[in-house]
Amino acid sequence: MKTIDKIYINGEFVTPNGTEYFNLISPTTNEELGQVRLGNTEDTQNAIEAAKNAFKTFSKTTASERIQYLKNIKSVIEKRKDDFINIMTEEYGGTFQFASVSYDYMLKSFDSAINLLNSYSFIKTMGESEVQMTPIGVVGIIIPWNSSNGFICSKLSTAIAAGCTTVIKPSEMSAQQTQLILECLHEANLPKGVFNIVNGLGEIVGAEISRNPDIAKISFTGSTNVGKIIAKEAVNTMKRVTLELGGKSPNIILDDADFSKAIPLALGAAFMNSGQACIAGTRLLIPEDKLNQVKSLIKETIPNFITGDPKNPNTAVGPMVSEKQFNRVQDYIQTGINEGAEILSGGLGKPEGLENGNFVKPTVFINVNNHMRIAREEIFGPVLSIITYKTEEEAIEIANDTTYGLQAYVSSSDSKRAYTVASQINAGRVQVNGIGHDPMAPFGGFKQSGIGREFGTIGLEAYLEPRALIQPK
Ligand code: NAD
Repeated sequence: MKTIDKIYINGEFVTPNGTEYFNLISPTTNEELGQVRLGNTEDTQNAIEAAKNAFKTFSKTTASERIQYLKNIKSVIEKRKDDFINIMTEEYGGTFQFASVSYDYMLKSFDSAINLLNSYSFIKTMGESEVQMTPIGVVGIIIPWNSSNGFICSKLSTAIAAGCTTVIKPSEMSAQQTQLILECLHEANLPKGVFNIVNGLGEIVGAEISRNPDIAKISFTGSTNVGKIIAKEAVNTMKRVTLELGGKSPNIILDDADFSKAIPLALGAAFMNSGQACIAGTRLLIPEDKLNQVKSLIKETIPNFITGDPKNPNTAVGPMVSEKQFNRVQDYIQTGINEGAEILSGGLGKPEGLENGNFVKPTVFINVNNHMRIAREEIFGPVLSIITYKTEEEAIEIANDTTYGLQAYVSSSDSKRAYTVASQINAGRVQVNGIGHDPMAPFGGFKQSGIGREFGTIGLEAYLEPRALIQPK
């Protein structure tokens, strides 16, 4: 049993004023792993004060100083690869496969922030004026549990590149993962107060970050519902917000696609991170006359998506993070059945032999229409809905008929055709014939998938305020 009873403020591990504890439960066995002591409003205010003081000097650092800080953090994280992968599989139930990808993603965040600093010009000329891109101030970073340290690295590295200081509120369920990254950040020896981390509940620590006038910007990743609460509160002090929210990503397979490749890819897109991914391709759009072929390909391929112990390198689908999340996914599977969709694979209940953990059977529904709740709402579990279409135009229409717009997928053997279809999808990222991540390209959502973008120049500029110096001649 581990007890995490420190938060991090102004360069030091400190005991929170908050006295409440939260139990950390293994998603794989439902046994207690440990406890975390939660910070309260006062702790959050102390963290914000430290970040505010640090901003006075950190905002004036040069690009080369910031590059050095980013390199320092990266080199410490590089020494602890196994620890990062192990703690993510143990505490979150992320598969070894996903945790390894997530670890690489953490390191790449620092590379791309360094790249940006090497190429970005903080002083520009616009019209006849000088425009200075200045660090925005103290940034509140609020993140979910599904890739906790990945989000800390991508947001913190951008904040550092911009010259901002930060207060980070991870999910209370990620406390052991947070402890590990904290140890690394501490070892990297940044100036005191540049990053502060407060474990705690959303309604307490997150709410104070959203309300406090000394926070200039919030970078939030999480559900659309909580994103709306944060945005409403933030507007009172006119905080800038970057909101990375939910998704219900469409995956269009065009009739000329190589289905033997596109279907395994589609299952991979739907079940990535055990389905607990905002970018998961959970609506699969296929030509009506290919349904039988798709059904048999899915039956053939789905056994490759091994469900079980996340530590096993062959496992593709691990447990849901919590019992609550397990129940939510079960409720959606029941909803799909009630709505008249047909289960092609998976279904209700736990897979045999995995009764102790929060395991869900990877589930594929056919006979789904785009008005059903299973086609409209984010389930956040390994559940795929297959919807048929008659024409390319109809496929595009269904793909765009959603309140979300985070990511989409298109497969075709004709790259020009795929490009034309991809260019008509209202989503922040469209993946053509594959799944990739470009850390220099923007990431974020259309519609209720969010506000703003992360990564690349657009992501960096979300941490900067332009100041135009007008000197009339
Ligand atoms: P969540 O929205 O419940 O919580 C996210 C964070 O917000 C947590 O740290 C939580 O404590 C905090 N929070 C909760 N209430 C708050 C409040 N009133 N004020 C301030 N902060 C508050 O999300 P979750 O359940 O942890 O994660 C799953 C959700 O995250 C899914 O909807 C998923 O789509 C989304 N997500 C989005 C992206 C993206 O990049 N767009 C990536 C991953 C996950």
